[in-house]
Amino acid sequence: MVLVTPASNSIENDTELSGGEASSENQAPLVIVGTGLAGYHLALEFRKLDSVTPLVLISSDDGAFYSKPLLSASLSHGKTAQQLCQTSAEEMARKLDAQILVHTRVASISPHSKTLQLQQDVDNHIADIPYDRLILATGAHCRKLTAIAGNAHARLFRINNLTDYHRFRTALVGCQRVLLIGAGLIGCEFANDLVQAGYEVAVVDPQEWPLASLLPEAAGRDLQEVLNNSGVRFYLGKSIRSLNKNPKGIEALLDNGETLVADIALAALGLEANTALAETAGLKIQRGIAVDRKLQSSNPHIFAIGDCAEVEGHQLFYVAPLMTCARALAQTLSGNPCPVHYGVIPVAVKTTLRPTTLCPPHPGAEGSWQVSQDTKGVCAEFRNSRGELLGFALTGAAITERERLISECMPLMDNKSFE
Ligand SMILES: Cc1cc2nc3c(=O)[nH]c(=O)nc-3n(C[C@H](O)[C@H](O)[C@H](O)COP(=O)(O)OP(=O)(O)OC[C@H]3O[C@@H](n4cnc5c(N)ncnc54)[C@H](O)[C@@H]3O)c2cc1C
Repeated sequence: MVLVTPASNSIENDTELSGGEASSENQAPLVIVGTGLAGYHLALEFRKLDSVTPLVLISSDDGAFYSKPLLSASLSHGKTAQQLCQTSAEEMARKLDAQILVHTRVASISPHSKTLQLQQDVDNHIADIPYDRLILATGAHCRKLTAIAGNAHARLFRINNLTDYHRFRTALVGCQRVLLIGAGLIGCEFANDLVQAGYEVAVVDPQEWPLASLLPEAAGRDLQEVLNNSGVRFYLGKSIRSLNKNPKGIEALLDNGETLVADIALAALGLEANTALAETAGLKIQRGIAVDRKLQSSNPHIFAIGDCAEVEGHQLFYVAPLMTCARALAQTLSGNPCPVHYGVIPVAVKTTLRPTTLCPPHPGAEGSWQVSQDTKGVCAEFRNSRGELLGFALTGAAITERERLISECMPLMDNKSFE
């Protein structure tokens, strides 16, 4: 176990975990599992309100603080993983007056004894630690490519953290042709980044237009056209039948019989919440860890935040909602119960070649897209039968409509009152 302590600013191995400040030595700590944006923002918000309660963060990675959205926009700027790391775990421990366990995996939760079982490697049991209240901020993982034949699956890269970014960036050296599997938000951002970094990019997706689950066709096609004009080749409405190694790299056979050869392949097939740890505690799981608007799970001492959480049916893999949750949960944990309220949450897609902003309606919302378009961009508004604006999508020059539409758009959650 590697423990980063605030007082000594040191990293120690196999250290006994203490309770923090002398006055609160016997108090079980508030424990946060995960040092991504959700875990760290919650800790920062909590420390603004409570400087006394012992705080422990645990992470299976190195605990570096970084902005994950930069991962899909930094290759063209020549940024290394090290340059993307904003603050080390040691510095965060000092800033938060917290203990941070890095390279440490929480294997299971025992909710009756309120303890966590920690492991360094698979089956290498290290220690049990107690918690007073537990917050799961375990993030999400990249969806796997399933039901595809071939021997090249192990050659597929995925990027969901700094280590993945480092591995991919290192492997890119000497490559020219990149096969991108997936034309969703992250796939299009990587296409935009890689083509500007000088690579030949081919994107395959079974959907008919880019970001098809978030954008109406006109907006998706508009983005596709600009990326295409910049050199990105799209193979849309097509599935990959097999992926095989090839002396030059990787070869994908599409369902229309076409073959694409690339030096390297990156999969961006969307994210799935990490719920395995929550399952060990018997927590209620839906698409993510089911929590109410106080971010409380089906166990009153366990909360969830960020990509791993599904907040009253909303699963949003974006930074803005997790920041809203961090502020609300910090209040709740410091004794002032505060339900979260999701308002209008627009997302700026980092396709710099064609600026795009989207604010998708809640999946299944009743209504239809109304689109106005010219060569400068697309403005699409999703309205219900009463004419209420439930979502929107803007590309190109139309992004100037953003503020007007935000002010008109219905919030994702009602502002209902709580006792
Ligand atoms: C390439 C990319 C680009 C993106 N771009 C945007 C964007 O432009 N705008 C936007 O709003 N959002 C974007 N997102 C989404 C956004 O980055 C995420 O919603 C956010 O970073 C999630 O933070 P998190 O803390 O919930 O999860 P993570 O950052 O995944 O952190 C999870 C943490 O949990 C730890 N962990 C997990 N399981 C265990 C365990 N059992 N024991 C110990 N530790 C554990 C991990 O080590 C890690 O520290 C992007 C995502 C990606 C991948």
